[in-house]
Amino acid sequence: MAKKCVYCSAELSGENAVDVCERCGISVWGEKMFQAIKDNMNAARDSGDLNQGNIGIAS
Ligand SMILES: [Zn+2]
Repeated sequence: MAKKCVYCSAELSGENAVDVCERCGISVWGEKMFQAIKDNMNAARDSGDLNQGNIGIAS
């Protein structure tokens, strides 16, 4: 099941845990902030947090 960007509905590759495409993420948060968010989400996924169906954004 392909994930889609929550802003523009573009299909996502699935490599990132965040449900926003590169273009929208950068336009919303800026490049550095978006990268930090992706790092956070990917780290949370890699540590197993998302396996419990709990998709909160790490603070
Ligand atoms: Zn998008």
